[in-house]
Amino acid sequence: MKKFILLCLLVLPLAAAARVTLVKDGKPVSRIMLEKNRGKDSIAVAVLQDFVHRISGATLPIVEGTRPRRGDVFISSLAGNTLSDGTALTGDSFRISTEDGILRITGGNDKGAIYGVVTLLEKCLGVEYWAADSYSFTKSENISIPLTTFTETPSFEYRQISGGGRDRIYTLWHRLESPGEVFAQGYWVHTFNRLLPSSVYGEEHPEYYAYFNGKRNPGSASQWCLTNPEVFDIVVARLEEIFRANPDRHIISVSQNDGNFTNCQCEHCKAIDDANGGHPSGSLIWFMNKLAERFPDKQISTLAYLYSMHPPTNIKPLPNVNIMLCSIDADREVPLTDNRSGRDFVKALEGWAAISDNIFVWDYAINFDNYLSPFPNFHVLAPNMRLFKKNNTTMHHSQMNSGRGVNFAELRSWMAAKLAWDVDADPDELMRRFLNGYYGPAASYLYQYLKLQEGALLGSGDRLWIYDTPVNLKDGVLRPYLIKTYEGLFDRAEKAVADDPVLLERVHIARLPIQYSKLEIMRTDLTSDPAEMASLLDLFESRIKELGITSLNERRNSPADYCILYRERFMPPAVHSIIAGAPVRFIEPPSERYVELGNTALTDELFGGSTFGESWVGWSGKDGSLVVDMGEVKEFTKVSTDFLHQLGAWILLPKQVRYSVSDDGENFTPIGAVDFPEDREAQVKYVPAVVETTKARPFEGRYLKVDVSGLIYCPEWHYGVGHTCWFFMDEISVY
Ligand SMILES: [Zn+2]
Repeated sequence: MKKFILLCLLVLPLAAAARVTLVKDGKPVSRIMLEKNRGKDSIAVAVLQDFVHRISGATLPIVEGTRPRRGDVFISSLAGNTLSDGTALTGDSFRISTEDGILRITGGNDKGAIYGVVTLLEKCLGVEYWAADSYSFTKSENISIPLTTFTETPSFEYRQISGGGRDRIYTLWHRLESPGEVFAQGYWVHTFNRLLPSSVYGEEHPEYYAYFNGKRNPGSASQWCLTNPEVFDIVVARLEEIFRANPDRHIISVSQNDGNFTNCQCEHCKAIDDANGGHPSGSLIWFMNKLAERFPDKQISTLAYLYSMHPPTNIKPLPNVNIMLCSIDADREVPLTDNRSGRDFVKALEGWAAISDNIFVWDYAINFDNYLSPFPNFHVLAPNMRLFKKNNTTMHHSQMNSGRGVNFAELRSWMAAKLAWDVDADPDELMRRFLNGYYGPAASYLYQYLKLQEGALLGSGDRLWIYDTPVNLKDGVLRPYLIKTYEGLFDRAEKAVADDPVLLERVHIARLPIQYSKLEIMRTDLTSDPAEMASLLDLFESRIKELGITSLNERRNSPADYCILYRERFMPPAVHSIIAGAPVRFIEPPSERYVELGNTALTDELFGGSTFGESWVGWSGKDGSLVVDMGEVKEFTKVSTDFLHQLGAWILLPKQVRYSVSDDGENFTPIGAVDFPEDREAQVKYVPAVVETTKARPFEGRYLKVDVSGLIYCPEWHYGVGHTCWFFMDEISVY
């Protein structure tokens, strides 16, 4: 990035000669001249006029024309991409100059002029835009700009980062794009089923869809048989239709549905993949190149994601094939170059960069299963973006939910946006600037907190996974001594801003992840103090209500429901299960990695949480069956077993659960069964299979048998269509 930034200060009348004065003593001096009334330039003009007014109270007049006079602000966009002196500007680049005493803001032919204006406001007039509807500046009746000339060009031509909600100025300020502005008709990711819906073609033409496990697998999440010529013809016709309806759009995504291992392995597709190092990207790029040839003036964007992440070895994407490469499987505790999962991604990135200079990197920067879990990844943002940039990435998306309450969402979005514009910016300087501006006197405590977490993460050697539970960090970033230290820092941070309700609320939001993590860790430990748990839960519940936090994870589970469920499931029970600690014997055992856990976890009175990686016992692609030995014949009136519903992890509810009892462990008598209806909802759920009787006619026996009929295969509407699915159970309770 070519950049010459002079230190810009608000006004000194004495230096007026060496400056362009916009406002003097609260009165407008400059006019804002707009070359011609172009849509995007008028936005630039309006933003400048608005903020100058907010700062100084003066309204600069807007005039149209091409002959500015000294002291004017002249805003224009290039028709092409080159300035008169030969400097190349991309669509979003801009130059700010004060030659001839005229403040010229010249943008490339996209949003350059707007970005020039917001840069002027930020760097020369001291306006900072922290978060949605949250900005700061110092009022002054005098505004002047020192003589300066500089050009900025973004590191990535396209920058997509969540943040700012519906605040349009935030989006402009941070130079962010949305896919809807760029991709034709909203086709920007996972578009296979929209282009060739299984509901339309699946039944009559299963051969259009992926072949694996010995059969065709049509379904809304199925992939295509890419070598079927009819599939190509239908897709061409669809694209022609879409581009006809959207003549101003030049890029469309033709990309695999979500899900892994679902690519076609028919004879023809497999032959192409085999000739390309065995990578399923072979048939994918073969197909996309044919499309790209049919639409030479358009770009065909396709995913390199999960099974297609690694590039083909024998075929190169045409220049108008855009590779949307995703780092979903990589961990985040260190930059991608420095752990095993990251290096696998880097290998893919470098491979693609060797055959394409049209790469869109989709990166992930938050815990999607636990928004309120600490996610100390700030130190990897800059090195990762520099890596992308070095490897021909022109488009970048950092996926990070920026909803209220998500761990340091405002800071994360702000830093990522700044870095996506300039990957060489100093992340530590950015972090301090944001913390100071957004948290005021609490900033230094929050900075210490974040740095302490970063060090603890690196010191622990733990992975930082985007679908993890905070429970897995309990011996590292979240070990007791550190939690105590974090709480001390938050106490001081709250005290520092106690008189400022806005800042105090921000600190309360920043503190939520520690409160949530404590609750999550305490529920996994039978020695936790129930009174402490109850009071922490009460505080957490009142805070999320007061702060308006509505979502705990990507599946939109609400924190209010979490609190209700916490009381039901996780607080030490008032009445204990009569099989607490009873041994379990498997007849149809769980999948291997859960056998050992299953020996104790099902009757330990600790219920699994929303992430399957802790306490849940799983069976994949089969039924389950087990017997609990109660030690002696007992009477009881209720049996309940919890099952996990977590579609994203291919964990579906089973079809049926049956209970039976026995005195001798061999001859069992059924006591009841529960059928689960199909559930397609994305929310994570704990669904109990309950069988009850009356006290007058209790169940009786020494052995309780639990038989579970699993779904075995993911259904056609699920991402794992055609593959085996899981069911997970935890805690069999008997009362
Ligand atoms: Zn095929």
